[in-house]
Amino acid sequence: MAKKRKILLLTDGPGARMGVDLDLLYPEQVTKMDFTSNAHDVKVLRKFTHVITAIGSGENLGKLDYRAVTEYAKGGGQVVSCLFEYAKNRSLHFSKTYAADRIRPAMRIAVECDVTSGYAVGDEAWWFGTVASGADTLYENQMFQRQVMGVLEGDKVTILATSNLNEGAVMVEEKVGKGRILALDLMSPGRPFFNSHGATNKYLFLGNFIGGSIRYGKHYPKRLTYDEFVEEMMNLADLHPQLELEPEGPCSDGREMWSFSLGDPKRQTMYFGGAIHGWEWENSYGLLRLAELLCLNPKIEGMDTTRLHFKIMPIQNPWGFDHFTRQNARGVDLNRNFDFAWANLPTPQDVVVPWDYNYKGAKAASERETQIIQGIIDRHKPLCVMDFHTAHYILLRPHKLDEKLVGAIHTQIKRRLKDRYLCQRPYGGEYQQVNMERIADRSTPMPYLFTYAAEQGCPAAVLIEMSGNRDDVHALVMNTDTVVEICLAAVKECLSYSKKRKKGLR
Ligand SMILES: [Zn+2]
Repeated sequence: MAKKRKILLLTDGPGARMGVDLDLLYPEQVTKMDFTSNAHDVKVLRKFTHVITAIGSGENLGKLDYRAVTEYAKGGGQVVSCLFEYAKNRSLHFSKTYAADRIRPAMRIAVECDVTSGYAVGDEAWWFGTVASGADTLYENQMFQRQVMGVLEGDKVTILATSNLNEGAVMVEEKVGKGRILALDLMSPGRPFFNSHGATNKYLFLGNFIGGSIRYGKHYPKRLTYDEFVEEMMNLADLHPQLELEPEGPCSDGREMWSFSLGDPKRQTMYFGGAIHGWEWENSYGLLRLAELLCLNPKIEGMDTTRLHFKIMPIQNPWGFDHFTRQNARGVDLNRNFDFAWANLPTPQDVVVPWDYNYKGAKAASERETQIIQGIIDRHKPLCVMDFHTAHYILLRPHKLDEKLVGAIHTQIKRRLKDRYLCQRPYGGEYQQVNMERIADRSTPMPYLFTYAAEQGCPAAVLIEMSGNRDDVHALVMNTDTVVEICLAAVKECLSYSKKRKKGLR
C-alpha cells in the first residue's frame, strides 16, 4: 500500500531517540546522518524521498546547511523540520515556553488538510514535554512546548496549528517550489509512552505528511458518558436515514442497550461489538466512526457494503463503560457469562463472589447484556463477529472457524496497519509499531462472546485486543483509525467470501 520511502534523518544525535523511533515506524526506510560531520548538499539530499531535520544542540545550528534543505524542497523534496532551525533560518522568533498553572500545553488545529487529517479546526491535541522527560503524568507540574512567533501567512506559508499558551505556531507548512517544508515541534514531546498526555501523537502529523498515517481516524474532544454516547448515536441516525438505531432491551442497570443496524437484514450480518469489558472503552468510538463512514460512503474503497448487513453495538456494557469497570452493574464479567462451556470455566478463588476478576455469574447467560447479545447472534447468524477489547494488539481465534477466511482477514489487517503508528506496550513495555502480528487460539471451549458465536456456526468470530484503557481521549485518532481499518479488513474479506460461496467456489 505504502510507496517506497527513503527517509533521511539529518541530526546531530543520529543515535538519539527520534532515530530509534523512526526506525520502528519505518523499518529499513530511514538513513541517519550526523550533519555536523557529513556533507549534505542538495545532491546528497536528492537521493531521498523525505528529509527530517532535528537539531539536538543549538550550538550546531550553523553546521546544518539549511540552504541545501530549502533547495531540496524547491525541487520537489518533502521536508520535516523541527521548529528551532526553521525559525532561525526564516528569521522568525523562536520560543520555548513553560506552562504555568498546570495548563496542559496543546496545539489547536487551524486548518484541515492532509497533515491534520483526523482533526477538525478548533480541536486541541495535547503537545508538550516535561522537565524530567519521563512519564508526563508524574511530572505535569513542569511542562513546556516550543513555538515560532510572528509567522506571516500567505500563499506559501500556512499555520496549521497554534499554541494554547501564547498563540504561537506549533506547526507550519511552507510550500517551497515543487516541494514543501513541515515545521513542527518534535523536540518537546518525549517518546509516545503509554497513556502519555503530551507525547501520544508525536509522530501522527509527521506520519500524515510522510505516508498518510490516518485514513479514517477521528478525534473526539470529550470522553462521553453512556447517555451522551447514545445521544451521539441518535444524532448520527438522524443524519443518515439508512442507519437504524435499535433498542435492544434494558441492561443490568435498567438503561436501554442500543445497536446500529445498517443495510438489508436479509443479507449476511457482520456483527461488531465493543466495551463488553466496560473499561475497554476507546474501541466504542472506533465503531461509532465506522457507522458514520459506512453511511457517508457505502462504496468505501470500492467495496459494495450494501451487499452486507451490519449490526454494530459500540457499547455492550453500559454500566461498566460509565464506571470504568470490567464487569456489569451486578459484578459479572459478561465475557465469561455466555451460554457455552460455562460450567467448564474454572473460578479459582477461596470464595467466589461478584466483582472477582473473571466472575462468571450465578449461571450461564444470567445477565441481561449476555442474553441480548446471544439473541442477536441467534437471530442473525452472523458471517463475522468481531468483539473489540483492550490489552495489547492480538487476534484471538476460537475453537471452531473457517481458517481460510479468518486467515485472510488477519493478513488483510496486518497489511493495513503497516508503517502507520508507534505505540508503547502498556505499563512500561517496549516500543513498537502498532500491528496485529500476534495471534492466539482459544481451542478450549470458553463462555466468551466470540466462542459462543463460533459454536453457533459463525465462520469468522474473533476477539480483537487493541491498546487502550487510557485516562482520556488523547489517543482516539489512532484508536478509531485502527478499529475502522480492522473492521474494513473483515468487510473486504467477507464480501469476497460470500461472492465465492454464491458461485460455489468454496
Ligand atoms: Zn476485555
